[in-house]
Amino acid sequence: MSTRIIRHPPAAPGIAIGRAHLVTIAPAPVPTYWITDTEVAGEIQRFRRALQQSKRQLTSIKNKLCRFQGREQIQILDSHLLLIQDELLVTRAIQQIANQKINAEWAVEKTLEQIRLAFLETRERYLQERRSDIDYIGRRLMKNLAGEGEPDLRAAPYPAVILVVNDLSPAEVAALPRRRIRGFVTATGGNTSHTAIIARSLELPAMVGNERALHHIKEGDHVILDGNAGKLLIRPTVRQIASYRKQQRADEKERRTLLKEGHLPAVTRDGRRVTLAANIELIDEIPTALEYGAEEIGMYRTEYLYLNRSDLPTEEEHYRNYREAVERMAPRPVTIRTLDIGGDKLFAHAEYQEHTNPALGLRAIRFCLREREMFRAQLRAIYRASARGAVRILFPLISTVDELRELRVLVREVQAELRKSRRPFNPDVPLGAMIEVPSAALVAEHLAPHVQFFSIGTNDLTQYSLAIDRTNEHVAYLFHPLHPSVLRLIHQTVQSAKRHGIPVTICGEMAAEPLALLPLLGLELDGLSMNPISIPRVKRLLWKADAAQAAALAAQLTAAATATEAEAMAQRALQALEADANRAADTP
Ligand code: PEP
Ligand code: MG
Repeated sequence: MSTRIIRHPPAAPGIAIGRAHLVTIAPAPVPTYWITDTEVAGEIQRFRRALQQSKRQLTSIKNKLCRFQGREQIQILDSHLLLIQDELLVTRAIQQIANQKINAEWAVEKTLEQIRLAFLETRERYLQERRSDIDYIGRRLMKNLAGEGEPDLRAAPYPAVILVVNDLSPAEVAALPRRRIRGFVTATGGNTSHTAIIARSLELPAMVGNERALHHIKEGDHVILDGNAGKLLIRPTVRQIASYRKQQRADEKERRTLLKEGHLPAVTRDGRRVTLAANIELIDEIPTALEYGAEEIGMYRTEYLYLNRSDLPTEEEHYRNYREAVERMAPRPVTIRTLDIGGDKLFAHAEYQEHTNPALGLRAIRFCLREREMFRAQLRAIYRASARGAVRILFPLISTVDELRELRVLVREVQAELRKSRRPFNPDVPLGAMIEVPSAALVAEHLAPHVQFFSIGTNDLTQYSLAIDRTNEHVAYLFHPLHPSVLRLIHQTVQSAKRHGIPVTICGEMAAEPLALLPLLGLELDGLSMNPISIPRVKRLLWKADAAQAAALAAQLTAAATATEAEAMAQRALQALEADANRAADTP
């Protein structure tokens, strides 16, 4: 059978070569039956045993993760552990068994359904993907109630395996035997899911939500998972395998060198300095960010603080978290992005009922400007943390000058409150606007006087410019950050920032894309913020690049008619850069 290549955005970078092992993790059975009064105590005990067993399993995976991987993503497993011990879950399930006289599986199912209501029908990508955490907990509990073991992902039948599976929980990913399992492909999930985050932190090449792949791969097929370019090669030719093995060896060598050279600045051949920063979701990612040479935290997505709980984080909780982030990064700055969710469902406000287009609705800064008290707690905490080190505040989804005016008034009020309560803070914390809506890019000239920096969120800027729902796989083929229209908006934003003397960076996924590097360099971005493990690769490319040549390329791309044309030009320039660099390396 011939080779088939499937393109799909990767969840974790790297190249994995192996044979496909197909596994279906079946949903756990949920038997439902009534029990008698005399059976209640036994049923509660059975439920408690399953809870204990689930807790032991998660703890053991967590310990393994700490011991062997030395990675810091254990907080995700901690959140599952917390969920499993959650008062709400335990007490309600027991009440259901006792009051309704139903079996434990049924009671668990009903209780989890109630917990899911906290995430009720949200269309917000971030929350949807957190909702899957509840499903994973449910699956584990049900399996333990049924006396079934965990799916045996260790029984990998080949020395090098690419696991192809309908779905994997973060804990299952963390427990994979790394020597054999070189990468995985799932049919469900998104790139911001915890499963994807764990894969990235473990540096395990992965693709999630690639349903198409599951239709084409057969057990034992040779597969190459190219998590750098977002390609899956099914039944590759011998030449393709040889070429990818070569690339794997080169990547490994480069990685080792770069980790050693992490402290070296990112500067082009002709002397243009670009700041390389890390995007993080949890403060536990900071050691990884530092290890990979992040000069700063370019965007700390604070949504995680609000999730997996039914109440709001207090100012004190925010403060402790931000203070830790700032102290761990010191003296490097931390850019804290304020809450970016369409939180109506999270906080269950009846007045913000589901609307047809949530991406165009009350999300991010719009929501925060409505929910002032909640927002003030976050702002006060950020300002308090500013007394402990370098902080910047980044406001998401700015679309008008009025929003910035309102925010500046709010910030002054928060500062006055802190002064009154004698809390130390830095009154000059730089304020930044995320440019991720075309209207903001087009009036960047007028936004610039109100802030001290811009950060361009190209994930949303692409979504809103091209009218492509970034979570909808049916239109994913149209999602092109290198589309000339997006590049023009970036260009316009950068020019406005330069005229007003403020720095401008990119913090969308394209910052880590090798194909986008030369165009972005040519558009004169001051910095790029990305997932930490991509930093060394981007830095290595920057060292080889020439900013003047990149500027000429950017001009061509901006003038192109289609994304395909622009991407082809960027591809040729990237290949020429690689070839030049290889020639230079061969010359004694
Ligand atoms: C973006 O939109 O590019 C961005 C960085 O923000 P998020 O992905 O969190 O929406
Ligand atoms: Mg965004």
